[in-house]
Amino acid sequence: MRKPIMAGNWKMYKTESEAVDFAKNLKPLVAGVKDRTILICTPFPALSKVNDALRDSNVALGAQNLYWEDEGAFTGEVSAPMLKAVGCTYVIIGHSERRQYFGETEATVNKKLKAAIKHNLNAIVCVGETLEQREKGETFKIIERQVKEGLHSFDPAKRDHWSFVILAYEPVWAIGTGKTATPEQAQEVHAFIRGLLPKEVAQEVRILYGGSVKPENVKELMAQPDIDGGLVGGASLKVESFEKLVRY
Ligand code: PEP
Repeated sequence: MRKPIMAGNWKMYKTESEAVDFAKNLKPLVAGVKDRTILICTPFPALSKVNDALRDSNVALGAQNLYWEDEGAFTGEVSAPMLKAVGCTYVIIGHSERRQYFGETEATVNKKLKAAIKHNLNAIVCVGETLEQREKGETFKIIERQVKEGLHSFDPAKRDHWSFVILAYEPVWAIGTGKTATPEQAQEVHAFIRGLLPKEVAQEVRILYGGSVKPENVKELMAQPDIDGGLVGGASLKVESFEKLVRY
């Protein structure tokens, strides 16, 4: 059985004190929830204090990006060992906003994924087509390229590596737009993604859906056989709404 994950991607929202308040408020609300992974991915400056606030809780901490070298002259970048040192156990890689605004490619996703796994960080690798690509009938071609190149040279025999790999299907046209893929549209792509994975690990890898997930639509999305969780932006920013998502 794949344990579901409900992950909040806060993007560039919340100062350190706002993030700590959220963490302190969320902790007791979800204290009894054991059958799913609860994760919040905060901006870098909030990670350390949020980690302190989440101590002894069932809420995991993640970052939204990393650089693939461990250290060096890379101004403005943050490495996997640095994330580990502030308590992160997860990191998002290749979010469509990173691809769109910061030039990330399949090749950089692949390097970041390898760096995350080298340091035992669970990596949520995002893939998804734009509206233009969907309308041109290119969805499956784009997803295949993103998955195959992003996960290039991952040996199916190395199950310990694969246990750190999580995928997230996030159609770009559904992110922050209020337009959600229908559960059937999402399931179709999730099943396709699972089919691209080596058969040795395909049934174990979790595939999250992201794109305007909210308390009103989470249940029907999560009922799909190949949807193993949500990666949620806007609706993860308020404790009440995130709690509802966690308890879908
Ligand atoms: C996201 O940030 O990954 C996302 C899916 O955003 P939203 O839920 O706001 O569409």
